[in-house]
Amino acid sequence: MSKIIKLKSTFFIIAFILIQLDLSGQVLSEYRIFTEFEGDERSLTSDQQKILRHFLDFETTSDLRIVESPSINELLLSERVQFKDFLGDNYSFDKEKCKGNSDTYSVWYGTSEKGYGDMTLVAYDDRVTGTIYIDDQIYRTEPLSNNLNVLILTDYSKFIPKDLSDYSEDSSANYSESNSDSEEENVKAMYGNSPVIRILMAYTPAFAANHDEDGLIATAILEFNQSFVNSSANVSVELAYKRQVNYTETGSFETDLERFIGTTDGYMDEIHNLRDQYYADVCILILETGNHYGLAGRILAPKSRAFAVVRSDGVTGRYTPVHELGHLIGARHNIEVDNTMLPFPYGHGYIDPYSPCDWMTIMGVNDLKYNEFGVRRKQWSRPGYYGNTDTAYVVQVLNEESYRVANFYPVPFFVEITGPTYLPSGESGTFTVNPSGGSGTYTNYQWWYRNDEGSVPPKAVKGGVSPMAPPPGVWIYLSYYEGEKTITFGPSYNFSLKCKVYDSDDNVAENIHSVIVGGLAKGIAQQTPVAAIEAIPEQLTLIGNYPNPFNPTTSIKFGLPDAMSVEISIYSITGKKISTLIRAS
Ligand SMILES: [Zn+2]
Repeated sequence: MSKIIKLKSTFFIIAFILIQLDLSGQVLSEYRIFTEFEGDERSLTSDQQKILRHFLDFETTSDLRIVESPSINELLLSERVQFKDFLGDNYSFDKEKCKGNSDTYSVWYGTSEKGYGDMTLVAYDDRVTGTIYIDDQIYRTEPLSNNLNVLILTDYSKFIPKDLSDYSEDSSANYSESNSDSEEENVKAMYGNSPVIRILMAYTPAFAANHDEDGLIATAILEFNQSFVNSSANVSVELAYKRQVNYTETGSFETDLERFIGTTDGYMDEIHNLRDQYYADVCILILETGNHYGLAGRILAPKSRAFAVVRSDGVTGRYTPVHELGHLIGARHNIEVDNTMLPFPYGHGYIDPYSPCDWMTIMGVNDLKYNEFGVRRKQWSRPGYYGNTDTAYVVQVLNEESYRVANFYPVPFFVEITGPTYLPSGESGTFTVNPSGGSGTYTNYQWWYRNDEGSVPPKAVKGGVSPMAPPPGVWIYLSYYEGEKTITFGPSYNFSLKCKVYDSDDNVAENIHSVIVGGLAKGIAQQTPVAAIEAIPEQLTLIGNYPNPFNPTTSIKFGLPDAMSVEISIYSITGKKISTLIRAS
């Protein structure tokens, strides 16, 4: 008599409810965000009041309001978000694709329907951090706990004087040498490489006391990448690591930067080991206060000085980390304030050429002539509206020199094969190779397989790959699967797969994945399939029973991605429950 094995779990019910919510959420069209806090300010906790007073102390804070934190679910499902500015004007932002979402946080990104503007919001659990850019206004928002956020209107004019000298220069620098290197790197860039610069973000206890560091750092990383996307620059950044350092700020950016750079001075020296460990090309330290908004270790920095410090009120909205990275890569300020033609005559920022100056690119600071300044846009200078080929083409500098910076700590080329480690006899498995590191662009995948049965005589292969099993221990090339990232394979004996991956620089990495094929008769299978299931599966799985149920005994294996209640019952072919084997959590 045939039997049906049925697995029931509360998991299915939970999944069903989530899908229902998703569907109902789609009808939300416009979501009004950051409505004003109606409560009494005296009801705020002393911690909240302290943080508010602290934000007000910054000269870059033009105005500040307490607002209700958004509902994360409603926000993430909204196609359009409406925001009322401090003058009472409404602005709508339409959701756009953004590759920022991660395992730990979600991103809502949208652009303004009128004028030049965008909204970047990062949601960690129930905390929202972000920036809202509307023509000549920049708002920053940070969580204030208890479902409240603070909304800060930034007075960007206050940034200007201190922004003018935000890098250290090496008078003996030999820029001509780096120019010839850059030609070589440009060739690599032409082959389609898109360098990834990995950033280590460190922050002081003084910063952590007043901010949600996770949200601000994630927002900053998004602003980096959005600026590159907006300008079609061939580079991106990723967060290599974030870490609070045990350091007391001195108030002098010069002192704090040199201590951050120093390897054996007793201040934050652990950063250099972490930089090695996490392959961080550039290290940025966030300070709460100080005498600058940002300071870069050097223009066209070598590896030993690819460091910068930034101040808390410029981490987002003002794009100070992005600006300092521009210096480290080799860019300078707009030519009106900095006419040095080395290392790159075209490597200057750009500002709105008409008076009044309404906007600046990332490396723009001031026009000196009228002493005007605009809001910084997430744009790098380049020929056309945002610059020219002679003096304002920082995108060219990014395309040539990012490769050099990204290679300070190249991520090792590593290959991983995912797929089942146990297969019931006669079934095929799906195996995928996942490369990481190397040049980041992978040009070929080559697969081999091996009979792992030792002295057991070869048997016929199922799946049509080869009519006969190969002799044990010999790697056989699977030419049929050349270039495939995912393959389907299922011989009738224990086997291993090997995949070799080539990157665009012709580096090779490989890995091996071994699979036990059903069959208790061989002895080893009695323990090994259990070991294979010990790894937590990604989804609910019911691995078929073995041997087939015509035998007097059979074993059933299942895997759960998380702790959950499980019931396994046996039903007859007519649907009648015969017995319940397990009912447990
Ligand atoms: Zn600068």
